[in-house]
Amino acid sequence: MAEESRAFQAEVTKLLSIVANALYSEREVFLRELISNASDACDRLRYLSLTRPELIADDPEFRVVLTCDAARRELCVSDNGIGMNRDDLIDNLGTIAHSGTAAFLGEVGSDPRGSVNQIGQFGVGFYAAFMVAAKVEVESRKAGEEGAWRWTSDGAGTFTVAPIGRVARGTMVRLYLKEDAAEFLEPARLGRIVKTYSDHIALPIVLHHGGKRDTLNTASALWARPRQEITAEQYREFYRHVGHAFDEPWLTLHGHAEGKIEYTYLLFVPAQRPFDLFEPARRHRVKLYVKRVFITDECEDLIPPYLRFVRGVVDSQDLQLNVSREVLQNNPLLAKIRGALVKRLFAELEKKAEAATEYATFWENFGAVLKEGLYEDPEQRETLLKLARFRSTCSADGWVSLADYVGRLKEGQDAIYTISGDHLETVQRSPQLEGFRARDIEVLLLTDPIDDFWINAIGSYNERPFRSITRGAADLERFASAVKPATAPPVPEGSLGALIALLKLTLGDGVKDVRLSTRLTDSAVCLVADEDQVDMHLERVLSAHGQIKQRAPRVLEINPAHDLIKAMAARVVGAGSGVELGDAAQLLLDQARIVEGEPLADAAGFAQRLAAVMTRALAR
Ligand code: ADP
Ligand code: MG
Repeated sequence: MAEESRAFQAEVTKLLSIVANALYSEREVFLRELISNASDACDRLRYLSLTRPELIADDPEFRVVLTCDAARRELCVSDNGIGMNRDDLIDNLGTIAHSGTAAFLGEVGSDPRGSVNQIGQFGVGFYAAFMVAAKVEVESRKAGEEGAWRWTSDGAGTFTVAPIGRVARGTMVRLYLKEDAAEFLEPARLGRIVKTYSDHIALPIVLHHGGKRDTLNTASALWARPRQEITAEQYREFYRHVGHAFDEPWLTLHGHAEGKIEYTYLLFVPAQRPFDLFEPARRHRVKLYVKRVFITDECEDLIPPYLRFVRGVVDSQDLQLNVSREVLQNNPLLAKIRGALVKRLFAELEKKAEAATEYATFWENFGAVLKEGLYEDPEQRETLLKLARFRSTCSADGWVSLADYVGRLKEGQDAIYTISGDHLETVQRSPQLEGFRARDIEVLLLTDPIDDFWINAIGSYNERPFRSITRGAADLERFASAVKPATAPPVPEGSLGALIALLKLTLGDGVKDVRLSTRLTDSAVCLVADEDQVDMHLERVLSAHGQIKQRAPRVLEINPAHDLIKAMAARVVGAGSGVELGDAAQLLLDQARIVEGEPLADAAGFAQRLAAVMTRALAR
């Protein structure tokens, strides 16, 4: 097969230009990325060799080798890991596998500087080489295969792939350094970079220069070293390596368990929200090792999905080294480890929760994920309810715990009031909140899709039922209101009853019922679900996911103290015009729907009626 030339996937081209321009000040990280890849490649082959020892028989000592040729300004990073064949080279170095990346890159505007941290989330990875190299060559032979291949690119839109003669197993990345990157040929500089970013790599990183061979790193698994010998920087760099991350760890948890089961864990909670947190697969990213040998990062049972933001490694002494990934499913040992890790993490989060501001960052990033556990892990509910934080009408930019809420219950209040919606800003402005605000009754503002589900599953906290304020009667009369009900002018006797009758007649099947409201102070109307109905926001969520077809008609509540309602009531019993009241009735329902975010049954009719009303008002 001859050399072929190919174009990078469009997103790669975009990523390449961002990496080259926006990360310039930190360009030494290219070496960390190449070493990280080399180490991953060795890990993967070491695992394969457990069942196929012949794959590494000729060269069993895994290592990463750096060589430089100052005269030609070339730096090579080689490994004897798993290697890549032609298809691997094209797929891995020409496209971006991480789903969600393309969408993210689509959002990055013309100035990528502000996005550097997010870009780091999916690892600038291999492409970081183009920060320092004018041209990059990758020569690789896959373990167990004969053919070898050379991938070449100058990072400007295209690359070539061509077969080459036999080379050693693994991968060699050769960088033709740019003129201003000659510093990366100095042994001392390379040594410092490796020490800073890659000391935790568990294989030797060896520099060949002037006939000498220097091992630049400690070359032992970081998690196996004593805690007091590890610096914060080493933890951070390990986190970046294992989590393919670019930010700082918000929490680092390193420990060893002995007794019935023996294992070591080094877990991190990121400081930033990874971009793929809400992918449907809900995969976690903790790697499983057995006696220092990487086994898999796809061991579902190791970490529950609601902790999928956790990064790190678990290294077990007790699992069989030649355990296959399939055997790991439903393994009782793993279930024990998972249980213990969850407990350990929660204990640490409870401690962290004492520092409210710091904990708020965590909760803002991962609260929505953690709350999935309320729904799917009944065993952890109690702890999770302690850890959970909410926006509320008393603290819309801060967070309150359920304990805070219950501590502030009003005299006679037996329920925890909630309202849910898609966005904090719109939920905060819901008319249904007015009566609660007037009586100074706190309401939790829920904006994560999972909220409706766990609340339905749990029902109550400390024997206080959760109660949606957009469903059923509000029974607010029991609480004294700070807002004085408007008195003058009174409405004629019986007129409100007549108005309700008229509204019911006019709106027909468009509403389930029409009632006087106690929850409104400023707005004329609002919609609520009846006691026996699905709550309105939940119905919208279910309907958006195609779970329900038919949308139920709602209860229209009217505010008897509102001027508009009073005027309508007066009209009904006075010499009213049937057409005008009919229009007004429809408009009342339509505006309630708009405020609620519900679609209008007849948008054209709404526009006509509104125009008619405006014409009458302006023509007066
Ligand atoms: P990431 O490491 O986050 O997956 P990279 O851009 O660093 O992203 O690398 C892309 C892919 O290229 C890797 O996932 C791996 O499959 C492949 N790759 C890169 N370097 C090597 C190597 N030295 N040996 C084998 N495969 C490699
Ligand atoms: Mg990488």
